[in-house]
Amino acid sequence: MSSPRSHARIAVMNRQPRTFDAPRQPDGHRSPVSTYYGRHVFDLIKLREKLPREIFQSLVSTLRNSAPLSKEVAETVASAAREWAVSHGATHFTHWFQPMTGLTAEKHDAFIDLNVSMTGEARVLEKLSGSQLWQSEPDASSFPSGGMRSTFEARGYTAWDPTVPMFLVESANGRTLCIPSVYISYHGHSLDHKTPLLRSVEALNKNAVAFLKLLGDVDVKSVAATLGVEQEYFLVDRAHHALRTDLMLAERTLLGAASPRHQQFEDHYFGTIPPRVIAFMEELEFELYRLGIPMRTRHNEVAPMQFEMAPIFEDLNLGVDHNVLAMDVARKVALRHDFVCLLHEKPFAGINGSGKHCNWSMSTDRGENLLEPGKTPHQNLRFLAFLAVCLKAVHDHAVALRWSVSGPNNDLRLGANEAPPAILSAFVGDQLTSIIDRTIAGDAAKDPEHFVLEMGVAKLPTLAKDNTDRNRTSPFAFTGNKFEFRAVGSSANCAVPMAVLSGAAAKSLAEMTERLKKKLEAKPGHRDQMVAELLREVFTESSAVRFEGNGYSDEWKAEAKKRGLPNLVDTPAAIQALTDKQNHQFLVDVGVFSQLEFDSRVNVSLERYIKQVTLEAETVAEMVLTQVIPAAEKQLALTGSAWRTVTESGGKGTIYSSRVKALTAGLEALLDGAEKLQKTLHEVHSGHDEMKVCARLSAEVRPLMQSVRDAADLIENLVDDEIWPLPKYREMLFVK
Ligand code: ADP
Ligand code: MG
Repeated sequence: MSSPRSHARIAVMNRQPRTFDAPRQPDGHRSPVSTYYGRHVFDLIKLREKLPREIFQSLVSTLRNSAPLSKEVAETVASAAREWAVSHGATHFTHWFQPMTGLTAEKHDAFIDLNVSMTGEARVLEKLSGSQLWQSEPDASSFPSGGMRSTFEARGYTAWDPTVPMFLVESANGRTLCIPSVYISYHGHSLDHKTPLLRSVEALNKNAVAFLKLLGDVDVKSVAATLGVEQEYFLVDRAHHALRTDLMLAERTLLGAASPRHQQFEDHYFGTIPPRVIAFMEELEFELYRLGIPMRTRHNEVAPMQFEMAPIFEDLNLGVDHNVLAMDVARKVALRHDFVCLLHEKPFAGINGSGKHCNWSMSTDRGENLLEPGKTPHQNLRFLAFLAVCLKAVHDHAVALRWSVSGPNNDLRLGANEAPPAILSAFVGDQLTSIIDRTIAGDAAKDPEHFVLEMGVAKLPTLAKDNTDRNRTSPFAFTGNKFEFRAVGSSANCAVPMAVLSGAAAKSLAEMTERLKKKLEAKPGHRDQMVAELLREVFTESSAVRFEGNGYSDEWKAEAKKRGLPNLVDTPAAIQALTDKQNHQFLVDVGVFSQLEFDSRVNVSLERYIKQVTLEAETVAEMVLTQVIPAAEKQLALTGSAWRTVTESGGKGTIYSSRVKALTAGLEALLDGAEKLQKTLHEVHSGHDEMKVCARLSAEVRPLMQSVRDAADLIENLVDDEIWPLPKYREMLFVK
């Protein structure tokens, strides 16, 4: 039979790993990565070569002090960038930015300019001016603004973020110079993800430096946040993807009976990477290396056809841009290998979903990781102080952190016994727990230096490595020299959770600085004791948020309730809780958002949730009516005719009567379910309060979608495999 699905099956069967045109050494072996790493990035090394010395110096000092660029520097950098890009085959440039759609955006302009002489002769020349580099003005009216548009006006502009180098993006027939940019409204309000992130980094820097000064680290000039992202994703074959309306439109399967084989053999995790997949990874990594993205790790994940990539950590802002870019490149390269890269948090029901574990820390301009215990007692006391900062941040701002990882997709994953629960808690491991407990008991304040030596703080990083198994269930785990924020969803732009986390840390730092200042004034000359005293207080106040046990268990839910920790089970609950002023005021205080921007973010979260769940509900209804029900009807006719043949020849055909009954019951359930779903959806949308619409979509529409799915999945197992139009789980998940 030649159904589209059987065509797809044959296409998939015949696929081979695809090679690409990789740079090679004379003997045919692949060239070392170091020979092409960063080739497509206009980085400081290239700038140093191309710019006059003073201009380069001035650029570097601007970057260091985040001061505005002078016109002259912008002009010179622009012309050097244009020359470099054009010599590498670029015809266009674009401001590359991250609006609140969750994707990146670009509007290309050619480098050309017309030079018309007095006599009217027109010549074309390549040009990029300083002001073109500096900013551009895309029409803002079609990007989400969360209502700010109605308050102000549609104009918005993108402005170069010089802290991230420009880079070249390659397409089939050319290259484009991308200028990493922020995106703000005409009145200076952020319309993007990058601006709040940059502000949070600045707030963290300012407050951390002030706190360090009080601790005695007077030489530290700046503190930067660092980020290393473990990015999980699924691959499905393009031929299967094209036949699945749900994957095409909503990036997840809304229907599909479970495959008898799924992840129960635990044979995929860290298993041999399938040949087609590793061919994809090799080309992906090649592209990423040329873009200066230091991707280091690749491996199979727990679910079949699920994989992970992780880079060497970088400065937070750069790390976020690199993650966004890596997701984009992964999608494009996958297509060349006849795969579709699914970054959705839960593409398949019943098997693990995907996260984006954000490894986050803070480091000084001298390269010291502030979450890494050091050699001296002072460094170790300082380490404990920054640990306290983080615990306080998670404790005080759990609601905002929870909101920062919420969304219609991550709702399907968080709290589902495969991903961290919806309750925000922090894991620190046995040894740190006992250090914290003894600090709370007042032991550290007696003789801080002796305390950190005796407790072996310096040995923590090696010990913490053994904790990884238990911290799998924790949304926020200390892993020796950094925290791993595990609740972030795979498709998210992690600028949001990272800005909230860095902003929360900045707020804790500001408060702890004030408190320490008072203590030092009251008891000058006793710095270490006063620090230990502050730690005793902060560890005590934040102790509810520390949890070392199994985050998946029901006992934890009960325990968390007793401790007064919020358990915000879905996005509507998280948004609702965040609108409470006490839960978001800190973001305004430290300058991550203005109040207006904050309100607009809330609107955007509501809007996106509503749009996504509605899209899913409409898609599943359509699939049921146009694909599942017709297949069931065909099967009914087949079974009916077999039954007639049997009875006509004198047989009883009881078995057929029960098959027909099962099919009929399934069909009725399905028709009934689809009708209910559509009716409820319509009714929910007749409401005007977006918060209520959102809550009803979660409480009523999603459960109805689930019951429609249950009915459809039952039918899938009653229908002739040849008739079933949709690629099944077992086909999609075991592509070799
Ligand atoms: P583990 O296996 O203990 O989680 P890895 O070394 O595999 O640790 O790191 C996982 C991710 O964390 C990597 O992307 C890595 O670069 C990143 N990472 C390591 N140290 C830091 C740090 N100080 N700040 C931010 N990310 C870090
Ligand atoms: Mg992992």
